[in-house]
Amino acid sequence: MVKKNAATARDTEVHEEETQILPQEFNYWLTTVQMPVPPAQPLPESADVAVIGAGFTGLSAALALAKRGAKVVVLEAETIGWGASSRNGGMVLTGLKLGVNQLISKYGRELTRRMYSVSLESIETVECIVKKENIACDFIRTGHLEVACKQAHFDDYARQVEVIAREFDHRLRIVPRDQLRSEIGSDIYYGGMVDEISAAVNPARYAGGLAAAAMRAGAQISGRTRLHNIQRQSRNGAPGFKLNTSRGATWARNVFVGTSGYTGVATPALRKKVIPIGSFIIATQVLADALARELSPRNRQIYDSKNYLYYYRLTPDNRMLFGGRAAFFPETDQTIRKSAEILRRGMIEVYPQLRDAKVEYVWGGTLDFCFDMMPHAGQIDGIYFALGYAGHGVAMATYQGQKMAEWIAEGPASQKAGEGTRERKTDNPFTEIPFPGAPLGLYNGKPWFLPFAGAYYKVLDWIS
Ligand SMILES: Cc1cc2nc3c(=O)[nH]c(=O)nc-3n(C[C@H](O)[C@H](O)[C@H](O)COP(=O)(O)OP(=O)(O)OC[C@H]3O[C@@H](n4cnc5c(N)ncnc54)[C@H](O)[C@@H]3O)c2cc1C
Repeated sequence: MVKKNAATARDTEVHEEETQILPQEFNYWLTTVQMPVPPAQPLPESADVAVIGAGFTGLSAALALAKRGAKVVVLEAETIGWGASSRNGGMVLTGLKLGVNQLISKYGRELTRRMYSVSLESIETVECIVKKENIACDFIRTGHLEVACKQAHFDDYARQVEVIAREFDHRLRIVPRDQLRSEIGSDIYYGGMVDEISAAVNPARYAGGLAAAAMRAGAQISGRTRLHNIQRQSRNGAPGFKLNTSRGATWARNVFVGTSGYTGVATPALRKKVIPIGSFIIATQVLADALARELSPRNRQIYDSKNYLYYYRLTPDNRMLFGGRAAFFPETDQTIRKSAEILRRGMIEVYPQLRDAKVEYVWGGTLDFCFDMMPHAGQIDGIYFALGYAGHGVAMATYQGQKMAEWIAEGPASQKAGEGTRERKTDNPFTEIPFPGAPLGLYNGKPWFLPFAGAYYKVLDWIS
């Protein structure tokens, strides 16, 4: 038996015979952290805000709300950080999934400028929380490096750098192919583009630290508490919601949903707008210092220019952590096992130096893509939400949690003032953009089209 990255495997005793089987189907980050365990408490009878999901979105909202004096309960179906927040690459990235030219042609200059500036501000939001709450999570401004898989992709970098400088007053740096060795120990790319503002973090430690900070501020986190459904219900004349959970019912004046790729039947209106997509990561054995420096001389957060992309970085203890969408479907025993070999082959294509490196861990997690590949936040049926980070969620989820907390805390006053006022007050452009569902409504939350989408993106990578 190997350890699985499942709720039941969180208490991490690894038996000796298990360590012989490599790679372990287990999330490496979880071996570096002792997640806080919330005190056993019954659900409160009522709360000002019920937050659904104890990932970056929910925890940063809970922290901000509790600091403002709200009575907050976080309902988490599994354990703290169980979702994507403990499983990701820990890249704290500027920018959005869509490129700036695409954004401008879709949303215009002004809105794109505001969205891009949020993406920059979100890195500071993370840094600020980490410092203020004293979270030991290896936050470090390493910068990120995007590498071009084709000459055409590299040519496009020059256009992007020019637009980003002109429109957003933000400087990125082009790295021509003949200078790329100063950034990456690989010869397969056509050049790169560096953004020095991006950072790295140990995501599991960050999630644990956020949870501890939220609890210190007074939030109650209720693990193993799955929300089944939400009903509108007034209490003592105050409008609100009854939340039926696996541990009984509670009532809250406001509900904030931060369930991202794990959004399920409890919030059907959101489920229809989110496509859960699997992403997988392997981590090698600890590498010698000299080899680690050769692979990534400036310790960048690296990803390539394909749709079906690879992303990779060194861990603080010098492992190569290499991820990608090796299978499009969310994580199962089968997709995780298959991904280990696909990712190892991908890693060796990039870094032949790692041919003999042992892969010690493999795990998967679920990303949340909306149909327009954009983050969205706002209210549906009176319920607040933020999701759709499309692989750029470490910083953006933290930011959205905090911004939505401000909006919720301002609730009664801004409700009187109306929707438009709320949006301007919170200054959150992702509450303003249209939130599309599936074309022709052909989606009820079960992503039957993923194999076709996966094939489509593979073809796109081949021809573009
Ligand atoms: C493999 C992988 C690599 C990634 N790499 C990066 C990266 O390097 N950089 C980056 O910026 N982003 C990355 N991401 C994306 C990033 O991790 C996510 O966008 C971010 O963690 C989302 O946080 P969240 O709090 O919104 O959701 P999650 O962390 O997924 O948390 C949602 C929580 O909701 C809970 N939940 C769901 N339904 C219910 C219910 N009914 N009742 C109670 N609880 C419920 C789940 O149990 C879960 O814990 C990656 C994601 C994956 C999967």
